[in-house]
Amino acid sequence: MTALHIWNTKTRRKEKFVPLNPENVRLYVCGPTVYDRAHIGNARPAVTFDIVYRLFQYLYGKENVTYVRNITDIDDKINNRAKGVRADGDKRDLISIIKSITDETIGWYHEDMYSLGNLAPTHEPRATDYIPQMISMIKDILYNGNGYVVEGHVLFDVSSFPQYGYLARRNLETMKAGARVEVAPYKKNDLDFVLWKPSSGDLPGWASPWGRGRPGWHIECSAMSSELLGPTFDLHGGGSDLCFPHHENELAQSNAVYPKEEFSRYWMHNGMIRVNGQKMAKSLGNFFTIKDLMDKGISGEVIRLVMLGTHYRSEIDWTDNKVHEATEIVARWRRILSTTSDLEPGMDPDFMEAVCNDFNIPKGLSRLHELARREELDSLFGSLSLLGLESLCEQEINALVNSNLDTTEFTDCLVQILEYREECRKTRDFTKADEIRDSLSEAGVLLQDQSAGELPKWQLDNNFNPEMLESLKSRYEDGI
Ligand SMILES: [Zn+2]
Repeated sequence: MTALHIWNTKTRRKEKFVPLNPENVRLYVCGPTVYDRAHIGNARPAVTFDIVYRLFQYLYGKENVTYVRNITDIDDKINNRAKGVRADGDKRDLISIIKSITDETIGWYHEDMYSLGNLAPTHEPRATDYIPQMISMIKDILYNGNGYVVEGHVLFDVSSFPQYGYLARRNLETMKAGARVEVAPYKKNDLDFVLWKPSSGDLPGWASPWGRGRPGWHIECSAMSSELLGPTFDLHGGGSDLCFPHHENELAQSNAVYPKEEFSRYWMHNGMIRVNGQKMAKSLGNFFTIKDLMDKGISGEVIRLVMLGTHYRSEIDWTDNKVHEATEIVARWRRILSTTSDLEPGMDPDFMEAVCNDFNIPKGLSRLHELARREELDSLFGSLSLLGLESLCEQEINALVNSNLDTTEFTDCLVQILEYREECRKTRDFTKADEIRDSLSEAGVLLQDQSAGELPKWQLDNNFNPEMLESLKSRYEDGI
């Protein structure tokens, strides 16, 4: 069998991937900051590392792989959004508003991830559940002489850490020139970064040896990864925009606390997305959320296939033409796979070889076109499953959707709600239809809309709560 080779950002070389322990393969990926809907740029790392996760599961066995993707639920962007909501007349206190913003956004994120065909990670820790671990790491950083306290802030002292800049291959001078660092008068060095900062009374804050405050962004990932995966783990992933300073800072913090440990042994970074050759920006009108695309009738499978058409390390240029091509391929593969009803997923060696060569999926896809032409459907199906496109085969998604739970008890109730929502869609009451979708998501039921007239497919996530489903049904009693 082909050995997996990946381009390791740390060594700038393509290397054979050898996990520390093949019975405990560990992957950490930086997840979303939850203040708004995910856009296609946020979708790319989620899709890229979902395939890494699937390949690890295939190579090492499902039970031997742990995938952690965190949720950043404390951040200035979230606080600012809450202040905006309050300024618009919401009378609740900021902390309650923040709670509803983060909960709602996490629900949307789960829906989007499901629509894109991503598996749920093994753990999805929220930063605010790991404050004691962060405080303990910050104490150690100070104790080891790698940080300092000034005006209620705790800062990491980059000059105390000679390896700083190694991951991003930058020295202090070029970093200063290249990075947009927050210049603050109390910093010894412009590149010193915040570990802890004060929080005003109406914003979320926690008691600490340095006063009431909250963590900086970088320390969150160091704390959650070491807590859930240990101080050394196999692979750390994220977008190339996170390599510096975020990942450099994670590495510095974790090495400062665990000087004898390696932190992550391999690092993978995915490229960015442009739209029609331009940088994606709200001001240019080329900024799409996943939901925007779905609302235009572009399915999760199509979005995924567009992403997979470009090697993960290269920049994607998102164009209507690519969407159009992917739409045709998805339809063709779906049609071919529907010609038989008893597929046995197989794996094509040439496809596997391409994937194992630093995830050369564009090459793997051209192999899949060959398999489709030759009607080697078992191999086509197995290979598509590795890419997270198993939903192209109807028989499989129905099996997947209903796999884990005895659904008989609440299926009736759910179907009635879904039928009511379908009525709303038919009468073009999209506000209510969206409201029902969001409430279902809060109850842990994720929807994937189908063409008009068909009930959506659904899946339950970890938050599933049958009682909320009942109360939702009674809320729409009149219609139902
Ligand atoms: Zn991170």
